[in-house]
Amino acid sequence: MRCEEMRSLLDLYLDGELPEEAARKLDRHLLRCPACTYEVRTLEQTRAMLREAIEPARPTPGFRERTLARLLDTFEPSLQMRPHPQVGRQWSLELLQEDS
Ligand SMILES: [Zn+2]
Repeated sequence: MRCEEMRSLLDLYLDGELPEEAARKLDRHLLRCPACTYEVRTLEQTRAMLREAIEPARPTPGFRERTLARLLDTFEPSLQMRPHPQVGRQWSLELLQEDS
């Protein structure tokens, strides 16, 4: 396996998404290629730093309600609201059948 080929696979490798055979080839290459080993370490460190630096995204208060309201505004003409037969008072949305 050549270095360029292997570097194009590093992201998948670190994500553990590389097929086993390819991952083994890559492991073997790393054993005898200091340059690629260095590359992997650097990439791993960068990823670790990014994970720490970036806060998980959280919706702001009211986001869910505003989004739901906008969805309803947009899709209301093609939706009908009626109480869900099994769960009583909860509302469900069903697409109206288009008369064709
Ligand atoms: Zn290499």
